[in-house]
Amino acid sequence: MRAVDIIAKKRDGQELTSDELKFFVEGYTKGDIPDYQASAWCMAVLLKGMTEAEATAYTLHMAHSGDTLDLHHIAPFVVDKHSTGGVGDKTTLVVAPLVACHGLPVGKMSGRGLGFSGGTVDKLESIRGFNVSLTTEQFMAMLAQHGIVVSGQSADLAPADGKFYALRDVTATVESLPLIAGSIMSKKIAAGADAIVLDVKVGRGAFMRTLEEAEALAHLMVKIGQGVGRKVAAVLSDMNQPLGAAVGNALEVREAIETLHGDGPPDFREHCLTIGGKMVELAGKAGNLEAAKQLLATSLDNGQAWEKFVEWIVAQGGDKNQLENPDQLPTASIVETVNAPQSDYIAGIDAAEVGKTGVELGGGRQKKGDPIDYSVGIICHAKVGSQLTAGTPLFTIHANDRNKLDTARQRLLEAVTWNASPVPTPPHTLKIIE
Ligand code: URA
Repeated sequence: MRAVDIIAKKRDGQELTSDELKFFVEGYTKGDIPDYQASAWCMAVLLKGMTEAEATAYTLHMAHSGDTLDLHHIAPFVVDKHSTGGVGDKTTLVVAPLVACHGLPVGKMSGRGLGFSGGTVDKLESIRGFNVSLTTEQFMAMLAQHGIVVSGQSADLAPADGKFYALRDVTATVESLPLIAGSIMSKKIAAGADAIVLDVKVGRGAFMRTLEEAEALAHLMVKIGQGVGRKVAAVLSDMNQPLGAAVGNALEVREAIETLHGDGPPDFREHCLTIGGKMVELAGKAGNLEAAKQLLATSLDNGQAWEKFVEWIVAQGGDKNQLENPDQLPTASIVETVNAPQSDYIAGIDAAEVGKTGVELGGGRQKKGDPIDYSVGIICHAKVGSQLTAGTPLFTIHANDRNKLDTARQRLLEAVTWNASPVPTPPHTLKIIE
């Protein structure tokens, strides 16, 4: 078999066999297929799509590119969640300890920033000393000892996704339904969780722009997960505007810390309760979603989730001092407020534009392996439906470069649309697919 023939076959819109997909995934993982051929193949998939059979085979070959964990000798039932990628999405930082503090083991593999969306691994690395590169043994030991672990893509677990993910980030090949499904579900299958909640984002700041596309992605991922014996549910939620207020690695860690103290933006808290609640419900620890959410709300307010968060971060090498004093997390040298240019209601805040502004400030990568600036980002002071008076804060920009700050200010002002009459608050949770 030759990589070039497989690329050409997909370019011409034909269906690839499981053997061809295996050859390509294995070849790229081992380094036999170079980045330029893998880039061309990803672009062909993005443009021509995959059948369900292809997407399933691709996912399973990705999952089996490294170890696939069976965790049952450590924990009888492990839960996991995964987001399809959004702007301001720091949900794992809150939900993992929130669920784990109820005695439900959470074992998770996360990714870095992807396109304009941030990544949990980058956010966690803004905490000094936090180690995301865990071996299989370390992953299992953390789970056994602390009931919570979040690792990045490693040489052991779904290494194929580690490579494809970094390539897609910088080749404009993120927004492909089968590539997203393969990326997410391969990590989930490899990491061994029994129940998985998929946090599927829909809208301008998501990779799936329409509800139809997001539903198709959710159904495919649920089917792949159930096909390998996992319990899976997908929560579809709005990502037209950023989630919560903070966008940027260290800024999002701070917002997660506030939320774990029982504060934080209401939309973000509610989102965490829904995703966490669904995990608790799938694990059979609550009779229904509402009961699960109430249980979790109590542990956000009484400090139980916060204590688990500190235990987890410290166990993976993170600096406790920074958690207790978030001002010691990376901070930018220039902090400037952008005020509302008019007195009106906010009709829209384009999440993709806010996310891209964050990347431009240095919070994301332009090329594979680029270093990122953990300190930069944006705080959004208003949500869709907010009524603002001219001259009151709309955004705060955290930057380390004056020119970038000037560009960011302009871009953010253009990301907002206004309305003279009241705008209703859009619904956040759109649909749940089991
Ligand atoms: N999250 C992932 O892990 N992979 C994707 O492709 C998109 C979001």
